[in-house]
Amino acid sequence: MDEQLRTEFEALLHGHRRAVEDRIGERTAEIDILRSSRASEFTDDEHDPEGTTLSAEWTLREGLREADAAELEAIDAALDRLRDGTFGRCLRCGRQIPVERLRIRPTATLCVPCAARRDR
Ligand SMILES: [Zn+2]
Repeated sequence: MDEQLRTEFEALLHGHRRAVEDRIGERTAEIDILRSSRASEFTDDEHDPEGTTLSAEWTLREGLREADAAELEAIDAALDRLRDGTFGRCLRCGRQIPVERLRIRPTATLCVPCAARRDR
């Protein structure tokens, strides 16, 4: 992978990373709000529809935050691969992942045929 592409992907990944970090910050704030409003609500969830809604909202946001945290890890791993020169190489077959695919999913670790095989 040439220097120009490396620079392009580095910028792409850093931009992506900032966006995910912002999202995690927002979710954490939302979760804190939900937590404090839930604490002040009745503790009897089963007979309190509002409490149940808050629990569901909380669970949803925790799930989203976990997904974002995983995304952040994937981005950091991709940045590591950029540094050590293995970025863009399929982890399974070792072939170069097409640049067009990497532009859409810079955290991709498998080429399309390998990814398709794994999903099946
Ligand atoms: Zn492959």
